[in-house]
Amino acid sequence: MLEVRNLTKIYKTKSSEDVHALAGVTLKFPEKGMVFMLGKSGSGKSTLLNVCGGLDAPTEGEILIKGRSSKDFSQSDFDSYRNTYVGFIFQEYNILNEFSVEDNISLALELQGKSKDKKAVEALLEQVDLNGLGKRKPNTLSGGQKQRIAIARALVKSPEIIMADEPSGALDSNTGKQVFETLKKLSQDKLVLVVSHDREFAEQYGDRIIELKDGKVISDVSKTSEQQKELSENIHTVGNVLCVKKGTNLCDSDYEIIREFLANSESDIIIANNEKDVNSFKKVNRITDAGEKEVFLDTDDSEISKKEYSAEESRFIRSKLPAKHAIRIGMSSLKSKPVRLFFTIILCTIAFTLFGLLSTMSFYDTEATFKETMRNMQQNMLRLEKKYLAKETVYQNGEESYEYDNVYEARFSEKDIKDMQETFGADTFGGVRVYYEYNIRSSNGSYWVNDVMSAAYLPENNSLREKINGSYPEANDEICISNYIADVIIQCKSYDDKGEVLDASTHEELLGKKISIGGVFYKIVGILDCGEISEKYEELKSPENENGQLQYELETELRDGLHMVMFVNEERIAMIAKENVPYRGENLLTYRNVAVTFKNQKGEYKYPNWSNAVYQSREGLTDDQMMLSKDLYCQLLMEKYNEKIEELNNKDRWEEAEKHYKTLELCSQVQMGGIWKENSETKKSELVKFSNEELVQKVNSLFAKAQEDGIMTHVGAQLFNHSTESVYGTQREAQIVGVVTDYDNRNGEQIFVSDAVMEDWWNEQKVNVDYYSITSTNYQDEKDAVYGTLYIPYDHSEAQTQMFWEMYKNEGYGEDGSRIKPTSTFVNSLEMVDSMVKSLSTVFLYAGLVLAIFAALLLSNFISVSISQKKREIGILRAVGARSLDVFKIFFSESFAITIICILLATFASALICNILNSTVATEIGAALFVFGAMSFIILVAIAIVTTVIATFLPVWNAAKKKPVDSIRAL
Ligand code: ADP
Ligand code: MG
Repeated sequence: MLEVRNLTKIYKTKSSEDVHALAGVTLKFPEKGMVFMLGKSGSGKSTLLNVCGGLDAPTEGEILIKGRSSKDFSQSDFDSYRNTYVGFIFQEYNILNEFSVEDNISLALELQGKSKDKKAVEALLEQVDLNGLGKRKPNTLSGGQKQRIAIARALVKSPEIIMADEPSGALDSNTGKQVFETLKKLSQDKLVLVVSHDREFAEQYGDRIIELKDGKVISDVSKTSEQQKELSENIHTVGNVLCVKKGTNLCDSDYEIIREFLANSESDIIIANNEKDVNSFKKVNRITDAGEKEVFLDTDDSEISKKEYSAEESRFIRSKLPAKHAIRIGMSSLKSKPVRLFFTIILCTIAFTLFGLLSTMSFYDTEATFKETMRNMQQNMLRLEKKYLAKETVYQNGEESYEYDNVYEARFSEKDIKDMQETFGADTFGGVRVYYEYNIRSSNGSYWVNDVMSAAYLPENNSLREKINGSYPEANDEICISNYIADVIIQCKSYDDKGEVLDASTHEELLGKKISIGGVFYKIVGILDCGEISEKYEELKSPENENGQLQYELETELRDGLHMVMFVNEERIAMIAKENVPYRGENLLTYRNVAVTFKNQKGEYKYPNWSNAVYQSREGLTDDQMMLSKDLYCQLLMEKYNEKIEELNNKDRWEEAEKHYKTLELCSQVQMGGIWKENSETKKSELVKFSNEELVQKVNSLFAKAQEDGIMTHVGAQLFNHSTESVYGTQREAQIVGVVTDYDNRNGEQIFVSDAVMEDWWNEQKVNVDYYSITSTNYQDEKDAVYGTLYIPYDHSEAQTQMFWEMYKNEGYGEDGSRIKPTSTFVNSLEMVDSMVKSLSTVFLYAGLVLAIFAALLLSNFISVSISQKKREIGILRAVGARSLDVFKIFFSESFAITIICILLATFASALICNILNSTVATEIGAALFVFGAMSFIILVAIAIVTTVIATFLPVWNAAKKKPVDSIRAL
């Protein structure tokens, strides 16, 4: 059944010469019987056994199993051969400590793909005297018991060959003997190959003894029994022992036989007659009572049957480690490395979560979300704004340094509005952006917001006019307010132009009353129904409520609707538009500083009587003419008049001085833009502002008076350096030809000069300024462009929704450098989300990849450590017959356990983060932004599996491809 031919095994060592562990061994083994391999340590016994058992491959030569040559065996065939035919027993028992006695035994059976056979296991336990110990764990048993478990394990699959390498090596002699007894019994119907260095045991139990030395067979003997030979009635021989019967009288011929025996002897002779001595002598020399003696004679190979085996008989069973065992072995090491496990899981979870989020974000559909949000929106207004693109060129110390793009607010022209009316409907109208407040007496609770955000004119054909309670403003000082503003005024009270409390408790009562908005008094002639405000803001009516988030949402809702819009007539809107020009990118304005002074009595321009102002050009001025802003003019004029009055008083010309007091008062009124009056109810002084016309009129009369008085007819101006507080460059003198009232009110002190003066100054100045920027753009507002915002009544139609989306989607700036952009609050939120999705996706992708690599490395390392800890288990399983595939199963079950934990955690984390993102970033958006759905989950799982497989495969491949003997040797 088993035969080896010309086996050589050469171990290559790095340090010394190659070791010839086997040097041409040819042997034939019988079907049954106990064959000992005897020899000194290092003679090659184990090597021979391992090669016979397929644990190791020979360097040359072949083994033949049931007629099949190992020459065409793969490693897996060797494993299967062992699995099918061989039961291994090792010196060190090699049983699995995590498995109970029973499981250890049945594992061998299960590896053959057979199911657990409880009865067979019990019978085996009885056979090896371990009854009742089936449920025990091996580490509670003695060495002898463990070895018997190993024997039982070898037996359970009824192998045809049992191979035992020094099975008694770790046991005391008595226990060792029992093991040999057991093996001897087994050898009655199977082949038992035993490696031993104990000749006594070999001779006692062996049917055949093969002796090895330096990898060669130096003797191969088989046991045969020799019959006793009767030499006379009283004397017989067995082999070389002469026996004399008890109590016989020897005759002469008997003595002759004895004398001849003694004479032929080559060594010392012992004659003993003591019963005890003779019996123990017989035993040692294995002489039976019947007088037979066992002797070893050279083995005769030819007697070993040359049986032919059918293919069916020599079939191998491929091992199949049941999944539950693979998992059990795999899991056992999870517990042993908790810290490592923890960090591996954390890192993998983070990496997988990033991929989960990434896939969620990749499923984020801007268009669907945008439209869904619009459909779900409560407000019935949409807003558009116009922007233009400009280039900022930054100069440092007079030299161009860098450029960047900037976006500024453009305004809609009449044509733009017409276009938009065609797109979104005739009710679309423009609003001028204002930053007005109206007076209220008390604001109890943040529900009442007294801001006005836009001023608008509703054309006559606009159907919104139908929702007005009252009428639309016709006169210049008439106004139509929103029902929200009306509510605020009713709730918080206001003052009319006479300083009286505006007492109204209904909208009707408000009609005809006057209120001041942005410093101008208007008569309320109409109240526009702009719809109700969500009930959830009711709680803000309580003064104690300081819910900042809710307040923010309220203001958003107010702004998105028409709640903060005032409606006026066409003339008033033009005035308001003139006063509220949006900021233009003119950064250099800040640096255009001049010191302005004026002629003194002697006609000299004198410092330090100067004021710091900014200069700019104005059409129609000549180089020796200048104009001053109202603020600057008044400021300088007052100084000048005070000087004059003081001078007159000093000369006791009281009456003349008196006249100038009136001018001085007018100057102060002009400067403040109104008159202080006492409020009849509160008895407090209040500034009542002039209307624009009034103001212009007052300025004109002030200017005429000053000219008449010859006060400040000329000014001098020179460039001014803020940091050194000194003047430099050319001093310019000019006649004051006017006062400017409609200037950009961000800087009150301004001086207006001709283009040429402006350019001269700027050329002189710019080389002295450290840093300035110049804004350049192709864009130019149309002359009639005054509207910063377009209001579109939203009818929730699909067409409007689609158009609004298209405007949002179109991010480019047109040829004129402008674009029209949806600006309802939800749009801003969506825009933020869009760019967040874009940047987060990139971050998640790269972070995810990097982390996945780290996670894979950590996992790989974790498995490597596991493998090194499990070398023993792998070796044992391989010895019993497990294939490489089974080793894979073990470690993949381990890493998949980790992966499953990570997938669960990552799924949870992804869903949680999506939830958080939805409830924080996207509050204004009426649709769930990020849904961690099935598809995202599948992608997460796929990424997790790929990572795991890659991370696990390499270390396991290394371990699994090892020859079993290497795994075992590592034990
Ligand atoms: P025995 O079992 O008779 O003690 P072995 O078969 O174990 O002997 O070893 C035979 C020889 O081969 C010894 O000299 C031993 O040192 C050498 N040997 C065994 N295994 C290896 C190995 N993996 N690498 C190198 N030399 C080895
Ligand atoms: Mg050995």
